[in-house]
Amino acid sequence: MPPKKTEQFETRAIHAGQAFDPTTGSIIPPVYFTSTFVQDGIGGFRNGYEYTRGGNPTRTSLETLIASLEGAKHGLSFASGLAAEDALLRALLEPGDRIVLGNDVYGGTHRLIERIHGKWGVENVVVEMSDLAAVSKAVAGGKTKLLWLETPSNPLMKISDVAELAEIGHAAGALVVVDNTFASPYLQQPLALGADIVVHSTTKYLGGHSDVLGGAVVLDDDALEEKVRFLQFASGGVSGPMDAWLTVRGIKTLAVRMDRHSTNAQAIAEHLVGHPALDAVYYPGLPTHPGHELAKRQMKSFGGMISVALKGGPKAARKFAESTEVFQLAESLGGVESLIGYPSEMTHASVKGTALEVPENVIRLSVGIENVDDLLADIDRALPRK
Ligand SMILES: *Cc1c(COP(=O)(O)O)cnc(C)c1O
Repeated sequence: MPPKKTEQFETRAIHAGQAFDPTTGSIIPPVYFTSTFVQDGIGGFRNGYEYTRGGNPTRTSLETLIASLEGAKHGLSFASGLAAEDALLRALLEPGDRIVLGNDVYGGTHRLIERIHGKWGVENVVVEMSDLAAVSKAVAGGKTKLLWLETPSNPLMKISDVAELAEIGHAAGALVVVDNTFASPYLQQPLALGADIVVHSTTKYLGGHSDVLGGAVVLDDDALEEKVRFLQFASGGVSGPMDAWLTVRGIKTLAVRMDRHSTNAQAIAEHLVGHPALDAVYYPGLPTHPGHELAKRQMKSFGGMISVALKGGPKAARKFAESTEVFQLAESLGGVESLIGYPSEMTHASVKGTALEVPENVIRLSVGIENVDDLLADIDRALPRK
């Protein structure tokens, strides 16, 4: 039974695109490990399946699920978040077009737009997304095809107003893209707020277990979908069946995981406020965060990502990142296990010397769903006393 539109998020996360196998009753749909599909006579495709680059039932199942969770008509799944972004950019941009993006988007997004698409004549302009006047100015002039934002942003957890920015983008004739990786569709629904397109690194919260890479493009418009679908087929950065299946399996528990990520992160952020070793705690769940009221309006809760700035500078920051035991030192985020990272040398090394550079005293925490007392004790052990 395909889930009804009226069913709630948690129910759709478990059932959308997940009909049981009609031949055996297997409650979990099989993983379709196949590169090609037998035809009933030339061109006689069964349910439209011809060759796995063009479509595979396990990938369809993930695409149906992600579209349902974002409240969208179409979902397209890719081998990684950056493969999804690249397909979207190539489907929609031409030489001479401009893309306006936030000054703290994911470093790899900036690298892709600047160093790959820049070579093909796509211009980019980096702006501070909370400065609405600056955004209006950057998108003006008719050349801007895409306005690209990420909220909460990485790693400083800035919150941008999706509804306001969508209006500004649309007034200038641009499509508005939101990278919803940090919030996940459980906490934030950008299309409902007015955005046109959502992208995800499903590697993070959607997959949720640090065991698979993936990306997605989600949108409503049929003509846009056709363009991105063509790029997906024609350039081939698709997710394989096993990757799609692992992601589907991870998504089933998204709601309960996000609830726990959020409550753990809230407790840790509150505990860290005023800590003598810290200059700042960046978490939108803190009432002192400049985006707190906005985040309360556009998110269900505040998510699992926290950054802190250490008073002792880069040396103290590195020492902290190398001293925790439950929080493991690694790239990435959004898994059930807690991770700690040093953005300026790790996730954001590629944006050193650009407008997206991250201060060298900042440490990023991806708060997992372990027992919060163990996480607090781990941080307290690793942070300097003053
Ligand atoms: C990780 C990440 C990406 C890139 O996704 P990959 O799956 O690593 O290619 C894009 N945006 C954000 C916000 C990310 O965290």
